[in-house]
Amino acid sequence: MCHGPRPPDLPRRKAFETSDWHASRTNSSRRASCAEEAIARKAVERESAREYIPPNANLAELRVAAESCHGCPLYRDATQVVFGEGSARALIMLVGEAPGNDEDLEGRPFVGPAGRLLDRALEEAGVERRQVFVTNAVKHFKFEQRGKVRIHKKPNGREITACKPWVEEEFRVVRPQVVVCLGATAAQSLLGRDFRVTQRRGEVVASEFCPQTIATYHPSAVLRAPTSDQRASMRQALVDDLTTAHRLLEDAGRT
Ligand code: SF4
Repeated sequence: MCHGPRPPDLPRRKAFETSDWHASRTNSSRRASCAEEAIARKAVERESAREYIPPNANLAELRVAAESCHGCPLYRDATQVVFGEGSARALIMLVGEAPGNDEDLEGRPFVGPAGRLLDRALEEAGVERRQVFVTNAVKHFKFEQRGKVRIHKKPNGREITACKPWVEEEFRVVRPQVVVCLGATAAQSLLGRDFRVTQRRGEVVASEFCPQTIATYHPSAVLRAPTSDQRASMRQALVDDLTTAHRLLEDAGRT
């Protein structure tokens, strides 16, 4: 085990020399740890997808470019990037949190049980799939390996910020009339960290990307609700909020 360098010739040195030696060791250790912290801070500041984005790219080009993104550490353990899916002329953009296990394996957003719930909710709200572009605030799966199972983990603020340039590009190309944030991560990415879905669910508010933005429950949160009554009520809220999105299009004569 390493305990660092020993004070030289301790018994024969005067007390003040020994304390000088310790003071100088403490100062140099502090300097080293400050330098390490500064390097770590700079690495975090550099975390961004920005440098991987080709200029003026269309959706197909962006999707290919995203496959090489190392803008944050999440690419290391995920199977593949999961880019947004849908028409560049979609009127509604749905933004979720991050790919789950099924999405990571298939390379497509919302394909697991949560995706099926979302499809049915869209149908009930009268929204056709061709009207919708579906994506996530973060494009790689974050998980914790427990035995053979990969447990989904929520992306942190740094990862959401690092990945935001991809979402900005999707907005630049699609230019949706209405945006629906599915869950707190998407809402905080698009509407700010102080936005609370629990308090403002279903409200039509302006975001930096679209003047008509609605935040609602993530379909996975509906599936995870502890009781069947809660599941039913959250599911209905999701359908209601998608219905609001559809009504906004109808009001604008865009359906
Ligand atoms: S999560 Fe986003 S920023 Fe991080 S590596 Fe993947 S695509 Fe890049």
